[in-house]
Amino acid sequence: MAIEQPYNYAYSDLELDAREGELVENFFRDNQTPNVDPAAWLNEDALPPNVLLTSVDKVVNWSRRYSMWPVTFGLACCAIEMMSMAASRFDLARFGMEIFRASPRQADLMIIAGTLTWKMAPWLRRIYDQMPDPKWVVAMGSCGISGGLFNDSYAVVPGFNRVVPVDVYVPGCPPRPEALMQAIMDIHAKVDKMSPTRKAVTP
Ligand code: SF4
Repeated sequence: MAIEQPYNYAYSDLELDAREGELVENFFRDNQTPNVDPAAWLNEDALPPNVLLTSVDKVVNWSRRYSMWPVTFGLACCAIEMMSMAASRFDLARFGMEIFRASPRQADLMIIAGTLTWKMAPWLRRIYDQMPDPKWVVAMGSCGISGGLFNDSYAVVPGFNRVVPVDVYVPGCPPRPEALMQAIMDIHAKVDKMSPTRKAVTP
């Protein structure tokens, strides 16, 4: 009795063998040269002696500039723009600052984004004190400069500089993410003027 084939195959066994053979022949033809040993460079001659002159200050400041980690401190509406700056459209990561830290002990930049109340102020100061030196502060929005819309309120701090020393102010209600990025560039300029062994040179 003849056994029925359950499927109609597209290729016969002979055709499959021919295709596989062609593939192997092509691979054989294209791979006659050995790949380069990944560790071959280890045996090369050492680089000819080169001299690069710079100062320790410049190297340290360069690394500080491109590894600045902001502590998370969003208080109100301005924080939405701050988050947008860190997301993909504005991409703060281009400046080496993409990692917002939840712990002040791992942060050297405080971006205060929002309205600060007197009730919250002691905790802001405590978090600032817990950040290791050197550290910088950006006051984001009119609330950070003067209390903004809530300047007359008994409950609102009329300017963050009553609580912590502020390095850069960003005007606006709220400021756009580009403005906050400009503030960070200004912080970078300040970092460039610092010396690891001496006090910062004030502009
Ligand atoms: S400056 Fe304007 S947007 Fe920013 S926290 Fe104050 S009220 Fe909100």
